Amino acid sequence: MIPFLDVKAHHDEILPELLDKAAEVIRSGRYAGGPEVESFEAEFAAFIGAPHCVGVGSGTDALLLAFVALGVRPGDEIITVPQTFIATAEAIVFAGGTVRFVDVDPVTHTMDPLALSAAIGPRTVGIVPVHLYGRPADMDPILEVARSRGLWVVEDAAQAHGARYKGRPVGTLADAACFSFYPGKNLGALGEAGAVASGDAAFIERVRTLREHGQRRKYIHEVVGLNGRLDSLQAALLRVKLAHLSDWNAGRRRVAQWYGELLPDGDDLAPPVEPDYAESVYHLYAVGSRHRDALAEWLDRRGIGTGLHYPLPLHLQEAFASLGHVKGDFPAAERIAEETLSLPMYPMLRKEQVQTVADAVREFTTVRLVGRAAATS
Ligand SMILES: *Cc1c(COP(=O)(O)O)cnc(C)c1O
Repeated sequence: MIPFLDVKAHHDEILPELLDKAAEVIRSGRYAGGPEVESFEAEFAAFIGAPHCVGVGSGTDALLLAFVALGVRPGDEIITVPQTFIATAEAIVFAGGTVRFVDVDPVTHTMDPLALSAAIGPRTVGIVPVHLYGRPADMDPILEVARSRGLWVVEDAAQAHGARYKGRPVGTLADAACFSFYPGKNLGALGEAGAVASGDAAFIERVRTLREHGQRRKYIHEVVGLNGRLDSLQAALLRVKLAHLSDWNAGRRRVAQWYGELLPDGDDLAPPVEPDYAESVYHLYAVGSRHRDALAEWLDRRGIGTGLHYPLPLHLQEAFASLGHVKGDFPAAERIAEETLSLPMYPMLRKEQVQTVADAVREFTTVRLVGRAAATS
């Protein structure tokens, strides 16, 4: 059995450290805020090279609080992609904004800068590119459009801790960046957690106030906020795991390289591309196949787990029916949703396991080729 993801394997390596840290927090009596949260914020900011970082309850909270802190008002339009996890767009709606989708590039699966220019209207206030699968979006053309139109840009970096764009770390490229530490992410809590990073100290202070019921002094509420805090226990465990993130990301890149060497690259299988500008951290290893569902079933029967990211693009979800989209509106996103399959990916995968997956994929493509030849002869 080769699972699609093995969250627990990350903890097996460092279990004594995690248990010691958890015991320390339990004994401290400090479970909300405090030194563990502050230390994690400083250490994560240093890791990505961002001047400021504030820990929050989840990646969804990070996006929501960032949009509120940016002053989103009803009627404001925010542009993002339909090929992402729904939280990106949900947070726009909960902040009071209106979602405007633009299609993704069919090869990189990230925001298409040309489609972006065409979609900007008089009510547009901001842009949210997503570094999907750990692969940075092509930020320079996006930032150029944003600057020329006076729009802010927030990176959805929930899948891309440690990724680089033209050598610059993701999370430092735009006005702000949002991270998720959901357990399955490259840096995962043992529960829910997230963070907002930015170079703008005043903006970060607004997020900090919003996450704490709009108060900077206890029971003096300056604005309406909510409980968007990062748990002390999660912050403490994240500090332990952060020390291993560079190695784990390197491990993911090594696994991706093995896949690149061992997978068939033909007609019926498109391995992920890594454009010159991108250093991906391979949150997911997503391949394309026109026979995606059959391939998934084939691998499943051989004990190999796979995932779909994501099977139905956001513009066709019932949750966004009010936007009035129909099939065909965003052809690249729709095709990606139908053809993309995530193969097993985590840093502890061994080369023999990658070989096993690659062999099973090769067998599948060969059997299909032979079948096609037989049908036409
Ligand atoms: C995981 C994820 C989020 C949301 O993060 P949570 O911590 O689960 O709330 C947002 N955007 C993207 C692209 C994600 O993958």
